[in-house]
Amino acid sequence: MEQPTVYLLSCGDELLFGHTVDTNSAWLAEQCTLLGWRIVGHRTVGDVTPEIIAALIEAANRADAVIVTGGLGPTLDDRTRQALAHAMGVGLREDPEALAEIQAMFKRFNRPMAEANRVQALIPDGAERIVNPNGTAPGILATLQGAKVFCMPGVPREMREMFKQSALPVLKGTEGAAHEVMRRLHLCGRGESDIGSAIRHLMGERSNPEVGTAVAEAIVTVRLYAKGDSRAEAEKAAHKAETDIRKVLGNDIFGVDGETLAGNVVKLLKERGASLVTAESCTGGMLSSLIVDVPGASAVFRQGVTAYANQAKTALLGVPPETLEKYGAVSRETVSAMAEGLLRRGGFDRQAYCLATTGVAGPDGGSPEKPVGTVWIACSRLDANGEGLTRSMRHNSVADRRAIRGRASNTALDLLRRTIMRHQSNYPVEESHWKRD
Ligand code: AMP
Ligand code: MG
Repeated sequence: MEQPTVYLLSCGDELLFGHTVDTNSAWLAEQCTLLGWRIVGHRTVGDVTPEIIAALIEAANRADAVIVTGGLGPTLDDRTRQALAHAMGVGLREDPEALAEIQAMFKRFNRPMAEANRVQALIPDGAERIVNPNGTAPGILATLQGAKVFCMPGVPREMREMFKQSALPVLKGTEGAAHEVMRRLHLCGRGESDIGSAIRHLMGERSNPEVGTAVAEAIVTVRLYAKGDSRAEAEKAAHKAETDIRKVLGNDIFGVDGETLAGNVVKLLKERGASLVTAESCTGGMLSSLIVDVPGASAVFRQGVTAYANQAKTALLGVPPETLEKYGAVSRETVSAMAEGLLRRGGFDRQAYCLATTGVAGPDGGSPEKPVGTVWIACSRLDANGEGLTRSMRHNSVADRRAIRGRASNTALDLLRRTIMRHQSNYPVEESHWKRD
């Protein structure tokens, strides 16, 4: 039995121009892969009827199923239904149930239905309507040259819900769908090439699982894509490779699949009854935002101070002006003083950590000694008995302003994780002890 194939087609000028990022295809590709379907192509076309027709025909020729998103709206630039009817060589008919659903949706919103929305009830002859529980545009299920064609709205939330309710059950039950397991391991504090070298023995082409790496904002993801004649076999192959990787990179791995670094840190702090504060300069709140993204962060996160100007570092964090004068705002001494300063002011009754950042996010402001991308990071801990420990490091990256801040924020979280876990860092980290007076 051949593995069934799927082709993803995104329609919309906004995607072609790059104004909207095609997140639908990324999400659908992952879903289809997990269902054991092989993706044979992705394509984006603009709102041009002949191009949509040609793309539909090509996609239907190449795959067993085609998933189309976008172009089902009520406006004139939404042309998927017309293009599909044309490709099928049929006309469009008004589907009374679809019309009733659209009318009911407007009634629920307490808004009159525009005449333009009537077009959304048009379905190619011989095709079926797919119910849209979240919006006005119904989807369409049709057959084109033997391929199943699912047309779904472009709005990601509507598309996902429709996919789960209508397309997923069809794709899931297909014979020949492979038994595959996708597992992702996430690491921080170590370069992608370094990680790639450490596990190169597992990265051979066509090995099972296929092992690959990707990096975003200093977080490296090792991807394992295992196949087998049964699900258990695929799981077994993935498990074996994961065990091998953990032997080499164990302490660098903070999470799997959907787990985040901030989520891991919040969990570790919670387990220890410790709290967290942040003192940020160049990351400007990004670090605290990552922490607050974690549901339940309030159990550990106490406050985040953004002290951008030197005066603010002194006024809000108690950094001595002499330290700023002597070493500069971007230095080990300043970042340590920021972290310790906030902990000294905090009035904590239990173990507390502070993460601090100060750096040159660019594009201007670099110097030969402190080039753009230089960020000093400190992780300071104050125990209930007044004993303090500060671990500080320098992080350098060549990137744009946003990426420098993102990488520094994640690297700071990773320094905290390693400090809590007593795992060694791959960066040189200096430690100093201090006391709360
Ligand atoms: P449409 O169904 O073409 O009217 O699309 C409705 C909206 O969904 C568009 O204005 C976009 O903002 C969004 N959208 C359409 N296609 C995609 C896509 N492939 N990925 C992410 N968002 C999309
Ligand atoms: Mg559109």
